[in-house]
Amino acid sequence: MSQFLRPLVLSGPSGVGKSTLLARLFADFPDKFGFSVSHTTRPPRPGETHGKQYFFVPVNEFKDLIAANAFIEHAEFSGNFYGTSFETVRLVHEQGRRCILDIEAQGVRQIKASTLDPVYLFISPPSLAALRSRLQGRGTETDASVQKRLATALKEIEYAKEPNVHDLVIVNDDLDRAYDLFKQVALGEDIVTDPLPPLDD
Ligand code: ADP
Ligand code: 5GP
Repeated sequence: MSQFLRPLVLSGPSGVGKSTLLARLFADFPDKFGFSVSHTTRPPRPGETHGKQYFFVPVNEFKDLIAANAFIEHAEFSGNFYGTSFETVRLVHEQGRRCILDIEAQGVRQIKASTLDPVYLFISPPSLAALRSRLQGRGTETDASVQKRLATALKEIEYAKEPNVHDLVIVNDDLDRAYDLFKQVALGEDIVTDPLPPLDD
């Protein structure tokens, strides 16, 4: 039935656990969902492969794609470009799978102005301290990059606090609890949304 479900837009600050939740979902349901593989100009992290997590492209290629109107939305995040191509989303729909996008706030704003009509799900950290420690603990960022991503996280959180931006919030405190809720949302089941924590620590 997944072809009848609206796309799902997952957003939340870098390091909150979006990729972790998605990896579990795709491991549990290999055929039900289609990940919207974005284009990015950031270099691959260890273990990331071209065409799976992202299409890794040089800046000039990304700019050519912008000029060719290839993107539903695109944004600059922490010094790199990221974008969702029409082609990626079309391919997922063609497979009859529910399309899941993992994008940041500028992309969410642009998707709201598009015809995609997804469900918007915000993954929140339980606290800013937890977010910082996860970003550092992942071991993929330099100190400067962690600082940059945390500064951007504050903006993402401010946006999430605006009314009617997200349909649902899941606080990723305990991973099993968060995953259980995330799985229900992905399968199109109703959940009671979590309240957004104050995130002012
Ligand atoms: P994102 O994709 O949102 O940037 P990741 O999925 O890469 O975030 O998670 C960032 C780090 O936090 C990873 O090292 C991951 O293992 C860890 N993590 C994810 N969820 C939790 C959780 N509920 N509790 C503690 N650590 C977590
Ligand atoms: P990362 O570099 O950690 O993989 O991703 C950084 C941020 O870029 C995350 O918040 C992620 O959701 C966002 N992102 C990934 N792909 C896209 C995209 O296609 N468009 C937009 N706007 N953001 C994206």
